[in-house]
Amino acid sequence: MEDELLLMLPGPVPLPERVRAVMARQAINHRGAEFGNAYADIARVLKVLFGTKNDPLVISGSGTAGMEAAVANFGKGRKMAHLINGKFGERMYSIGQRYASETIPLESEWGTPLDLEGLKSALEGGCEVVTLVHNETSAGILNPAGEVGKICRKHDALLIMDGITSIGGDRVLADEWGVDVAFVGSQKCLAAPAGLAAVTVSDRAWDRAVKNPPYYLDLPAYRKNAAKNPMETPFTPAVPLFLALREACLIIEEEGLDNRIARHHRMAGAVRKAVTAWGLEMFPRVDGLHQYSNTVTAACLPAGTNDKDFRGTVKGLGIQIAGGQDHLKDKIFRIGHMGSVSAPEILATLAATEFAVRKAGHQVKESGVITAAEALG
Ligand SMILES: *Cc1c(COP(=O)(O)O)cnc(C)c1O
Repeated sequence: MEDELLLMLPGPVPLPERVRAVMARQAINHRGAEFGNAYADIARVLKVLFGTKNDPLVISGSGTAGMEAAVANFGKGRKMAHLINGKFGERMYSIGQRYASETIPLESEWGTPLDLEGLKSALEGGCEVVTLVHNETSAGILNPAGEVGKICRKHDALLIMDGITSIGGDRVLADEWGVDVAFVGSQKCLAAPAGLAAVTVSDRAWDRAVKNPPYYLDLPAYRKNAAKNPMETPFTPAVPLFLALREACLIIEEEGLDNRIARHHRMAGAVRKAVTAWGLEMFPRVDGLHQYSNTVTAACLPAGTNDKDFRGTVKGLGIQIAGGQDHLKDKIFRIGHMGSVSAPEILATLAATEFAVRKAGHQVKESGVITAAEALG
């Protein structure tokens, strides 16, 4: 539609028609079988995406509600360490500062490898809880969750992982990696509307839950209500969003997780090839452990251009991509390729972006659009 922008952001993402349709219906009681069945469908699908045997607890609130629930229920009054290489790592640290008895920020430049040596020292120093962002959306880098999990287990520390832009789009094996608390937000890889977060908790973490959790984000209360038949939440949930998330989960189940992850990898590969073809630099500094994100690509803006003009050109063609956040504004641009995205959206986005790259006066080495089309064809 003319007035509808194609959102190629790292959330929110375009909603499949089926997901939109289920939100238009009459209200239902949230303490009844129909709601309980929707919650059960969500839980069945999400636990596979998280790679866990633990039951997902759904909170009415954005992804940040999941972050805060994790820190408040398992880090309150404890010594926490925060692995930071982007905006969301910083956010975990800010939340830690509200709840922990002591916080250790383990900071790397945005988009560069995590400070794993610093983590080992922090754990040797008695740190009990660690936070990690698996896919750092602000910088387009995929952090080595399995490696971090190993280090945490060795020191018997709890690991809290933000999987907001990896769960449902890339491989996540929470149990195998030793992740104790993981969470996702609805409007990213799951292709559901914004406003819900889901959290899973290991047995080890439940045994160490704090005695004085916050009231609205009291995870033991969510657990107790989810164990009822029909399943419930402690307070009135955002019912239309639950129904939409259920539909999004059914779509994911129909596609199959392996197919879905392979599709995300294919789309990401095509976008990276285009960036290289244009002769632009990828923003993250990857090594054997840290990788380029498969759900969002961050690339450096061509020299001499600014965010407003660059993204304005793309938007003029009906497509919204993301800029850099905070100090990365005017330095990078980000293309989200998560959710139900496939070749038509990717090719249109790359065509519009290539136009902006050329318009900025940058001499492209070769056409990124054609290179991507070859990769996807
Ligand atoms: C989007 C995002 C968040 C924050 O989610 P909100 O839904 O905006 O609260 C947290 N972490 C990561 C990695 C994200 O991409």
